[in-house]
Amino acid sequence: MHTKRTAAISTGVALAAVLGAALAASAAAVDPEESTQTPNVSVEYFPEPGGEGRRTEVPLSYGTPDASAALRSAAPAATTDGEVAPLAVTGSSDDRLDVVIIGDGYTADEQDAFHTAAAAKWADITAIEPYASYKGLMNVWTVDAVSAESGITGDPTADVTRNTALGSYFWCSQTERLICADIDKVAAYAEKAPDADLVVVVSHSTKYGGAGYSGLEESGYPFDGVSTLSSDNAQSSMIATHEIAHSVGLLADEYTYEGYGTWTGGEFTEPNSSILTAARMANSRSKWYRWLGENDPTGGTVGTYEGSSYYPFGTYRPTQNSIMRALNINEFNLPGREAMIAGFYREANALSSDVATGTTIGRKDRITVTQAALTGLAAPQLRWYVDGVRVKRAQGLTAAVPATLGVPADGRKHTVTVESVDTTTSIRDPKVRAEATDRLTWNVSASPAAHQKPVPRPGPRH
Ligand SMILES: [Zn+2]
Repeated sequence: MHTKRTAAISTGVALAAVLGAALAASAAAVDPEESTQTPNVSVEYFPEPGGEGRRTEVPLSYGTPDASAALRSAAPAATTDGEVAPLAVTGSSDDRLDVVIIGDGYTADEQDAFHTAAAAKWADITAIEPYASYKGLMNVWTVDAVSAESGITGDPTADVTRNTALGSYFWCSQTERLICADIDKVAAYAEKAPDADLVVVVSHSTKYGGAGYSGLEESGYPFDGVSTLSSDNAQSSMIATHEIAHSVGLLADEYTYEGYGTWTGGEFTEPNSSILTAARMANSRSKWYRWLGENDPTGGTVGTYEGSSYYPFGTYRPTQNSIMRALNINEFNLPGREAMIAGFYREANALSSDVATGTTIGRKDRITVTQAALTGLAAPQLRWYVDGVRVKRAQGLTAAVPATLGVPADGRKHTVTVESVDTTTSIRDPKVRAEATDRLTWNVSASPAAHQKPVPRPGPRH
């Protein structure tokens, strides 16, 4: 099952075009901190490596110098600016969660270094579960953004400014470790790659820092989240691991602010934050009750630990610590892990076929299917059905013929269904299991004489 946000794309492009034109009109460099041209957006940052997060408001976009224009006038020779390349492509974009990585602060001569950094960042992120097991549901693309200068603004000190393609800078909102970027410029590059669901901006720096923008679809962008992080600081990779979890797993922050006191509102929509204590959760069979008492990969047991969603009192999180609380641990807790897996399947299909579904095929036509390559925690099973009845001996086959599956030549209509179901023990909620189940069905010709050729699947399925 998946939902691509095709409808939002045209809006986002239009918005970017309008804002882009407005910015082009203001030629001179603008101090991002003084810019009030666009609405603010909430970003999250991590003031110290391994620490807890914080949130603040920053401008979405601002009038930094147009690096591409500066570069074109200075060096008219061809560059790779805007070039898209596959970094880890596992299937059709219609069937995958598409991640786009863009570099900032890399000159035309430094694009190889960007590609090396992008691969290293993706390796860091996908070393962590459940990204590790489910990376087969994701595609990763790089887009070259050529900057006029090497490195980004605010590195090593606040007074250093650089002209870069995406306007990234440390010291955003007077906060040293907060790297902001011009989201309109990010969007202009991201739209060159296929159907970006998530965007990661790798800033050319050894200094620890980064940020997570979320809720961007509400502002008209075709993607919901942008993570920024520095290229040559391994600890900054954890920032993207945490930020992507907000977008994909719809997870809450499990850290708190000292001054926030007691939460008096209603239940949280996020799967890893609740107003319920363990006893009430178990009684009402809600939230993460299926995991209560289990040994958790973060250490300790799943329970209800007070303090979550910024409020130290009146709110509960599943475990003492997790990647959603602080970046000093590289594990999600069990409820978080299940939510991440649900998110991967919401955005991706594990099953595809070149034989179009919804068409009628012959009894002796061969159906071939492709299942995403999932490992580790994942336990995908391939099951075949004739008229809704499971054909157990066909389990695991990636090619089958209706007649061999048992479709009789009796002049009646029949159906063949293939199903990929993830039997992982990391899923306990039946709704998530249903999300992790993909099915394709074909009608098999009623007449034994009719023998239609399989029709190739036309275009994207939405
Ligand atoms: Zn967060």
